Amino acid sequence: MSKGFLLVISGPSGAGKGTVCKKLLERNNKLVFSVSVTTRKPRPGEIDGVNYYFVDEKEFDQMVENGELLEHACVHGNYYGTPKKFVLDQIEKGEVVILEIDVQGAMQVKKSYPEAVFVFLLPPSMDELKNRIAKRGTETEEDIAIRFKNAFEELKFIDEYDYIVINDEVIRAVEKTEAIIAAEKLKVKRIKSILDKILN
Ligand code: 5GP
Repeated sequence: MSKGFLLVISGPSGAGKGTVCKKLLERNNKLVFSVSVTTRKPRPGEIDGVNYYFVDEKEFDQMVENGELLEHACVHGNYYGTPKKFVLDQIEKGEVVILEIDVQGAMQVKKSYPEAVFVFLLPPSMDELKNRIAKRGTETEEDIAIRFKNAFEELKFIDEYDYIVINDEVIRAVEKTEAIIAAEKLKVKRIKSILDKILN
């Protein structure tokens, strides 16, 4: 069995991370999604414990203080973080865990867990990105402007990532991500134990 690992997916708001991750999880029931904690208010249809764990700032600060988060960051004015215990338990079990997090969080993961795999999801163009953020209809005008401006800041981190996936069509982006996972599972460092078995 291949060792478990973290697959970090970042990219600007509107690149389609949520849609790509959802499809990826639908098609691959062995993949595990890390549900983040956030102080953002739920959008219509979002479910606590499924999309996010929705908490207030006091609860969030407490989790940070208790060292319960693998990484955390303030993104577009709200706090987000990855529960540490769940993720580490899953890796221990040999699972591939998907973290859909921003670039600041990804850089923290890179420091504490360098063997993670980092994927940057890009829109086909910045015009398309703006259209997608606006079309979603869940953000205010001000929020859309913040998210679009932040997109350019996030792009500056692209060199820190291992792979780029352009989300021109969801299914193509999903297939490319699946190819990355398949290749990463075959990395020698992740399957050393198999070699031991064959030799014995
Ligand atoms: P949204 O509010 O649209 O769900 O997410 C806003 C941004 O926060 C996205 O870029 C998303 O990837 C990021 N995000 C979601 N969960 C986490 C997390 O646990 N940690 C960090 N650092 N970013 C997160």
